[in-house]
Amino acid sequence: MQIVVHYAEIGLKGRNRPRFEQRLRQHLQAALDACGGGGISNLYGRLLLETAAGTPFDALAERLRRVFGVAFFSRVSSSEPTLEGLEKLVDEFVGEREFESFGVRTRRVDKRHPWKSEELNRLLGARIQALTGARVDLNRPDLWVELHLLSRRALLLHERVPGPGGMPVGSAGRMISLISGGIDSPAASYLMLKRGAELSYLHFHSAPYTSSASQEKVRELVARLAAWQGPATLHTIPFGELQRELVSEAPAAPRIVLYRRFMLRIAERLAKRERALGLVTGESLGQVSSQTLGNLDTIGRAATLPLLRPLIGMDKAEIVDLAERIGTYEISIEPDEDCCSYLMPRSPATWSRPGDLEAIERELDVEGLVEASLARGTRERIDPPA
Ligand code: ATP
Ligand code: MG
Repeated sequence: MQIVVHYAEIGLKGRNRPRFEQRLRQHLQAALDACGGGGISNLYGRLLLETAAGTPFDALAERLRRVFGVAFFSRVSSSEPTLEGLEKLVDEFVGEREFESFGVRTRRVDKRHPWKSEELNRLLGARIQALTGARVDLNRPDLWVELHLLSRRALLLHERVPGPGGMPVGSAGRMISLISGGIDSPAASYLMLKRGAELSYLHFHSAPYTSSASQEKVRELVARLAAWQGPATLHTIPFGELQRELVSEAPAAPRIVLYRRFMLRIAERLAKRERALGLVTGESLGQVSSQTLGNLDTIGRAATLPLLRPLIGMDKAEIVDLAERIGTYEISIEPDEDCCSYLMPRSPATWSRPGDLEAIERELDVEGLVEASLARGTRERIDPPA
């Protein structure tokens, strides 16, 4: 079976394009290997996959639909780019299908071919009409007959299966995503994967002071995300000891902001170890008290790496939509106890000044607390669901 893969944005990358294509090919090869193997070749701005004999298309399509960088893909049959070649392709294709209406669309990818696309559409359309008696409908036909004329080959596309768009995972570098068991951070992670990040995940929990439900949830969430990126690393860090320490030393109102600043420092330390280039959170402007502009500012200043907040301008309803679409919502809404519900003040401050937090932290052994938390952490590999 031959499958042609079209990519969108990476086509625009000029001199960097080979790097993006290389990444995309790696991910496509992994999808092929998981379905019995096959090879990939370059075909004039698109890629051609040749599967091993007997590969089930549905299983492979399921994987290709999750490869970022893919605009759409299609099974194809191919021939010499001659009129006889095209006619043979078309005869075979329509002979195996039942339809009452059809449309032909031809693209001359190589403009040196002698016929105009319009001419070919008419010629082949008339042929199909004579063969089948079906009528032409260029708006919503039962069947599209789509032909691409490359320099040395003609392709007939059997269907157009949409891919997820975006950029190949890894093309933007590695980042650490802070993931709670909530709805937002998995959605944020997805958006960054879609733009080419390769993510490692970091989860804080307050067990044994709270239940350990969040840890199981996060494993499941990361597994869902791994379906889009491949096996991923999950770091888990107990946060309760640090929280108790902060609570005994610092005032209640800015507590949540203080927790977050420590989370970012710990994340940054892991990022340096893993040579990650950025941090990702699921914060959205104004959603909760810790996400006012003032608090986001105070929190963000604890990090020196780029801090990416892909949900910043999204409404909760939009985030929920996205989470449902990628299959994380149903996991996120299972009950758990977030680590920040442990030792939460009754009325968290909606505004803070970086200077105030810095003053509080001057009284603390920040480095020592960060190191101690890291030392309590564990890491594990999470695979995509089977
Ligand atoms: P989420 O739905 O992702 O939990 P949220 O709207 O509940 O987000 P917060 O709980 O204030 O918002 O958390 C803001 C962000 O801080 C989260 O999106 C996540 O990136 C990070 N974060 C919060 N709690 C944790 C945690 N326990 N472990 C790791 N990161 C966390
Ligand atoms: Mg939360």
